[in-house]
Amino acid sequence: MDQGRYTIQEIASIIAADSEHLANDTSIIHTLCYDSRKISNPAHALFFALSGQRDGHQYIRDAYQQGIRHFVVKKDLFHKPFADQAKAFPQASFLQVNEPLQALQDLAAYHRKQFRYPIIAITGSNGKTIVKEWLYQLLSPDYRIIRSPKSYNSQLGVPLSLWQLDAQYNLAIIEAGISKTGEMAAIEAMVKPTIGIFTNLGPAHDEGFASQTVKAAEKWSLFKESELVVYSPSCVPQSIRIPGKRKFAWQWYTADTHHHNADLNVVEVLKLNDHTTQLKAFFQDKPIQLTIPFIDQASIENSISCWALLLALGYQTPTIAPRFQRLFPVNMRLTLKKGIHNCSVIDDSYSNDLSSLAIALDFLKQQQQHPNKTLILSDIPTEENDERGVYTRVASLLQDKHVNQLIGVGKALKRHADLFPHDAQFFETTEQLLQILPQLTLANQTILIKGARSFGFERVSNRLTLQTHETTLEINLNALEQNLNAYKRLLNKDTKLMVMVKAFSYGSGSFEIANLLQFNQVDYLTVAYVDEGITLRNHGIQLPIVVMSPGIDTFEQLIHYGLEPEIYSFPELQALIKLLAGLDRKAYPIHIKVDTGMHRLGFEPDKLDGLVEMLKQSPTVKVASVFSHLAASGDRRHDTFTKEQIQLFDTFASGLRDSLQYDFIRHLANTAAIVRFPEAQFDMVRLGIGLYGINETEDQSLLLQPVARLKTGITQIKSVKSEDTIGYNRKGKLPNGGKIATVKIGYADGYNRRFGNGVGHMMVNGQLAPIVGDICMDMCMLDITDIDAVEGDEVWVMGPEIPIEQLAKAIGTIPYEILTGISQRVRRIYYYE
Ligand SMILES: *Cc1c(COP(=O)(O)O)cnc(C)c1O
Repeated sequence: MDQGRYTIQEIASIIAADSEHLANDTSIIHTLCYDSRKISNPAHALFFALSGQRDGHQYIRDAYQQGIRHFVVKKDLFHKPFADQAKAFPQASFLQVNEPLQALQDLAAYHRKQFRYPIIAITGSNGKTIVKEWLYQLLSPDYRIIRSPKSYNSQLGVPLSLWQLDAQYNLAIIEAGISKTGEMAAIEAMVKPTIGIFTNLGPAHDEGFASQTVKAAEKWSLFKESELVVYSPSCVPQSIRIPGKRKFAWQWYTADTHHHNADLNVVEVLKLNDHTTQLKAFFQDKPIQLTIPFIDQASIENSISCWALLLALGYQTPTIAPRFQRLFPVNMRLTLKKGIHNCSVIDDSYSNDLSSLAIALDFLKQQQQHPNKTLILSDIPTEENDERGVYTRVASLLQDKHVNQLIGVGKALKRHADLFPHDAQFFETTEQLLQILPQLTLANQTILIKGARSFGFERVSNRLTLQTHETTLEINLNALEQNLNAYKRLLNKDTKLMVMVKAFSYGSGSFEIANLLQFNQVDYLTVAYVDEGITLRNHGIQLPIVVMSPGIDTFEQLIHYGLEPEIYSFPELQALIKLLAGLDRKAYPIHIKVDTGMHRLGFEPDKLDGLVEMLKQSPTVKVASVFSHLAASGDRRHDTFTKEQIQLFDTFASGLRDSLQYDFIRHLANTAAIVRFPEAQFDMVRLGIGLYGINETEDQSLLLQPVARLKTGITQIKSVKSEDTIGYNRKGKLPNGGKIATVKIGYADGYNRRFGNGVGHMMVNGQLAPIVGDICMDMCMLDITDIDAVEGDEVWVMGPEIPIEQLAKAIGTIPYEILTGISQRVRRIYYYE
């Protein structure tokens, strides 16, 4: 994140760092960073070695190699052996502090104090990002606003947001979220909000707090010195005294009551049509109303929060009414889709500013599937006098993030075309780009579409992506990353991590998932068959890949693509050795599978001697790892058996090591065993289903996030009478008559036929609708008699609201089968929020 401008000496004094050799250092710092994979502007960057999942100090070398010369590190790390290591970075300056995160926060607090303009801080359980974005939309006509990028609201996100404060703005909107006790004090000290908004109070993050009241009290402490606080009394438990000099309460009365004791009392919410709602209220005892372009409960609540703030600031209805009518839904997602001509398309056409551009470019950089990367970029809304500076920064970002080609849209970009490489192309309007688009031959590359809302880049995205037949599987990459980290936290410091991406990553995707795992530096990937491995290699995956069932006839390809075979039998081993000898290859990595009780693939433990003999005579292969698979690691009733398997494996691996006299990786634990048998981590674990958010063990403390949502749409709605029958074999009936919706998903999409006739449900506009009649090949019918729905409405088939575990149980199978059964014709869409 870019903005502040301090000399390194100033910073050293602000964060009270011990720093030798800074006397002659006149470097200016603009950029703060903490992740060596997301570096830009290295000459003016300061790297904070934070300790999180992994210790940031491990990445100093990587950051140094990318040109960073200034580091904030933990003091005690400068004792040996780090002091010696530091010599490896002769040009670096190290600012030593007690706690690098604290130093980052101190620097942000100091920077914030340089500005006198108001800061609006938003906290609450839900809706923070939406309220922030809507306030930005509503207040932009009157203010030059800086706001937190995306949902940067954490201990780390807030300081990075504050760092962007600058004299060119005159209002800041900052989001603040906490997940456990004690975090708000640090945020309060940094932000010192002038105005506070408390959106609502729900159960999110309850587990980090002793009680709801403790959580509320902590959140309220953010506003202890604020001038104005806007809230609904429902966010205020009894015992809490509301802080702030001035308070403005709003209340939404769902029942008829005559005590209107808030400042803004919303008494009637009228749905005008499918997309508009009218709010009627009393403000200072006078009737007042507002129309908003939304109909759902959450949007209504968030709109009222915004309305209340604008009224508290003295805005009059004639000014704000048209602004509210122009509000648009917030979509902070970065979406990865399949494009035409074998492209991958990343769609981020909601907003455009430097910080969200940097985030999107990091995601682009993470994509390895095509060497060529193109950015389609619109003008960035800026004040005219700092236009040059902004586009200079854009140009250097494009270089830092390895963008090969720029297509610019807008007059301002065109004015500054000289800042960009010669082959960049510029268009004044989106229409002009759309006209030329077919001639641009965008093929076999990854394209990032990043545009301010007014440029309507969704039209560009529609042209460049393959149209889906509406049934899509959405994969939440944030959730996937969180699950990965939840399991990493269970591992011992040196335990390696192999991730199972067989069967299309349990149905969720191929290189898209592997890219993310590669970016997160897991140690190995594993597929079932050679062709799965080849696909990953062809899409830029360089991690070691193990193939579990290679098949002798595929060995040549396996070797050609640098894949590593599981070896489970003598004939297989012999065939490989013979082939490698013919190719004159030495020490090819192999993975020995032992059968300790699963009785599927693998050498029986008593074959150890024969195996040793063959391996010793064959310099063509080298054992990279030895492993076995547990048959029932998730089931307490079989724990004695599991422990026997662990023992057998241990003995076999030791025997092999003693005989071969070299070291290899030993691994046994699958997902359930990572949780249930921490003593069986050996040197590596194999994570499977847990990554995708499914934990079927009794220990639910991991807080996994559902990763997938299967969505479809309503094609047709019709009324049926009591005597009518619905679907094949006339199985479906609504005894009292009613309304049915036909939706675009059937058993050919992987929606099991056993869900028919009321066994399964789907969610339509927040309500569960049972399946009526038999499931057809490409569609099925829902009973929506009591549900408000229109043709074209979205329908959720599985996901956070309809858990895969529940669906599996309903038809007597396991989540693995449900997930991997979703057919390939269902388009996968990947997103970051
Ligand atoms: C699939 C598989 C795993 C992962 O199992 P989960 O139960 O999904 O964690 C681990 N090891 C082997 C050999 C596998 O085939």
